[in-house]
Amino acid sequence: RQATYAALRDVAPVTRDGKRVTIMMNAGLREDMSNLSLTGADGVGLFRTEFQFLVSATLPARERQTRLYRDVLDAAGDKPVMFRTVDIGGDKTLPYLRHDDGEGEENPAMGWRALRVALEREGLLKVQARSLIEAAAGRTLNVMFPLVAEPWEFDAAKTVFDGQIQYLRGQKKTLPEAIRYGVMLEVPALAEQLDLLAPKISFLSLGTNDLTQFLFAADRSNPKLAERYDWLSPAILRFVRRVVRGVEGHKVDIGVCGEMGGRRLEALALMGLGIHRLSITPASVGPIKELVGMIDLAELQTAVSGWLDHPPADMRATMSEWATARGL
Ligand code: PEP
Ligand code: MG
Repeated sequence: RQATYAALRDVAPVTRDGKRVTIMMNAGLREDMSNLSLTGADGVGLFRTEFQFLVSATLPARERQTRLYRDVLDAAGDKPVMFRTVDIGGDKTLPYLRHDDGEGEENPAMGWRALRVALEREGLLKVQARSLIEAAAGRTLNVMFPLVAEPWEFDAAKTVFDGQIQYLRGQKKTLPEAIRYGVMLEVPALAEQLDLLAPKISFLSLGTNDLTQFLFAADRSNPKLAERYDWLSPAILRFVRRVVRGVEGHKVDIGVCGEMGGRRLEALALMGLGIHRLSITPASVGPIKELVGMIDLAELQTAVSGWLDHPPADMRATMSEWATARGL
């Protein structure tokens, strides 16, 4: 099978009925970038910029950040990289970045983390914005914000970027050719205001790791709960369907960047729901590319739509049978 995946490296993932699907990979360190050519992924759909913060003893200086982002863009060549601004706080605490009261939180996953931290410690986001903009001089910058719950949070984050662009323009610096802004949909509440957000963004990425833990109120790091809820639950799939419909008619490139997209049946379900961009762990790129080449998307869409209208008692068993019958 490894040989099959290697052979697929330079083959674009296209379904049997001709739909080009975008299979990207997740990354977080400079070293991860070698996986791009190894797997033949279409780009980096999630670059977790907090990794450099987590492996550092002090807040990474602007020059250091700029160098990292530039190296990552250089390594990606023509392929896009979607940088996610820092997602720290919660369980990823940093000794040099503390909550004002210094107290621990009872529910860190729902606490002071991600964009919530970045908007409050604006210097953090400013430095990151400047670094990303400078690193992408003359190229396209794709940037997305984590854990957005309300459209105003996106507006506030974008304002920080606008400020840095203005400053650099004043300094006569070369700016990115284009900046595409995106948002991670990880908080269910955001799904209720997509009509307000969609006109402002270029892409939306469903972070299914956090999204599903919030949908089920089930801690993603608690193994006791991992078995209890299934990613193929109609609750999740119907939610995704609603989100896909929510951005219809808008120019929003929608994708999934959680672990869900790297699993066979889950990837099938997502593609059947109209998600045509998956960003997954590098090891899954080969298998999912192979899967894409074996499906008839129209047939899959009809099947998924039927299952969601009238959910079978056991969605996983039903989908598994369906896939086996088709040699998937
Ligand atoms: C997610 O929540 O699905 C996601 C991709 O972000 P992270 O796993 O880094 O929280
Ligand atoms: Mg997340």
